[in-house]
Amino acid sequence: MNRVGVETVPDPTILQPTDAIVRITSTAICGSDLHLLDGYIPTMVHGDILGHEFMGEVVEVGHEVRRVKVGDRVIVPFPIACGHCWFCQHDLTSLCDNSNANAKLAEKMFGHAPSGIYGYSHLTGGYAGGQAQFARTLYADENLFTVPEGLTDDQVLFLTDILPTGYMGALNCDIQPGDTVAVYGCGPVGLFTIMSAFLLGAGHVIAIDRFPYRLARAAALGADPLNYEQEEVLEALKLRTGGRGPDSVVDAVGMESHGLGVGGLADAVKQTTRIAESDRPHSLRSAIISVRKGGTVSVPGVYGGFADKIPLGAFMNKGLTMRTGQTHVHRFVPRLLEHIVKGEIDPTAVISHRLSLDEAPHGYHIFKHKEDHCVKCVLDPWADSRPTGLAPGAQ
Ligand code: NAD
Ligand code: ZN
Repeated sequence: MNRVGVETVPDPTILQPTDAIVRITSTAICGSDLHLLDGYIPTMVHGDILGHEFMGEVVEVGHEVRRVKVGDRVIVPFPIACGHCWFCQHDLTSLCDNSNANAKLAEKMFGHAPSGIYGYSHLTGGYAGGQAQFARTLYADENLFTVPEGLTDDQVLFLTDILPTGYMGALNCDIQPGDTVAVYGCGPVGLFTIMSAFLLGAGHVIAIDRFPYRLARAAALGADPLNYEQEEVLEALKLRTGGRGPDSVVDAVGMESHGLGVGGLADAVKQTTRIAESDRPHSLRSAIISVRKGGTVSVPGVYGGFADKIPLGAFMNKGLTMRTGQTHVHRFVPRLLEHIVKGEIDPTAVISHRLSLDEAPHGYHIFKHKEDHCVKCVLDPWADSRPTGLAPGAQ
């Protein structure tokens, strides 16, 4: 348990006529994978294949696939959309009603089931993920986006997840021109939130973390860094906003938030022993407390179960709005592609490490422990391995 390794598994095959097999050229490790590895998202099974940020070349399609063709270079959004249900029709693809093969299990936990997600536990379908050489993708015509010529893998890979996630995190703040936005967490999601907040008109973005190398990345994007180990966050945010507090606050940390003091320690004990809470909501609490009255708390950070001591009194009496969700990636890909093509967003700015798939366990280690100035690992599934990528069944 809680161990990630590289093993040889059978190549995926077409199971449904709407499937496509993708030969993966680039894949990445996400903060959400850390929650799985640490066991805080339930229902992972020994041998599950991780990975929900991947792209590559289509090498085989099912007989009902019309739009997508063998040879297409595609990115694969992490939530799986059927394209036809009420939620997909309303651009809420991470809530698709049909793609989660284990919807019953998720309904027990959440009341309603979110969409299927690649490599992201059995609660979201138990589908094999894309930290691999090949992946089976579902509803190919609805999900695979063809990459325009001239763009590198590095430029488009993060359209599968963290770039739209940062963008939706900022969009959910309903930013008005000149607004102040505070972002908890300067991981890849926080960094893309910062870029997006400026793009959407924020005047001042305050970036909160405790790792100087990550704060430096945020500062390089134009954000105002705040190290919460050096300054008390509530006071520091008041000081930087004339006493009023930020117009919106983004929790780009999620369920494994690091907490200071006794409160942080109590959360860690309760989460580890699963007593009373499965999530450590330190940054969420702090976001609710520090946002200005009438402000918005946007939560791209992932939570999995139950959290303790959420300051509902502050939430209600300050008249706050909270918006959250797994990202509706499909909705944002076209406009973000345009920003990339025009040079208004440079997704490569978050990449810190390039590793072969065989080195993935090392990648997980440095990403989890924030060692070696790790921000984002991109994995090449074909480096140090089979010299040519033959399609499954090609021999
Ligand atoms: P990451 O682990 O690289 O970044 C988290 C950052 O938060 C770290 O830099 C850490 O130092 C910082 N942090 C921890 N405690 C903090 C605190 N109390 N205050 C301020 N900062 C604190 O992870 P990431 O890849 O950037 O992902 C961030 C979150 O976004 C995760 O929860 C991940 O699951 C989630 N996510 C959500 C979606 C979605 O669809 N909503 C998609 C992708 C990722
Ligand atoms: Zn992710």
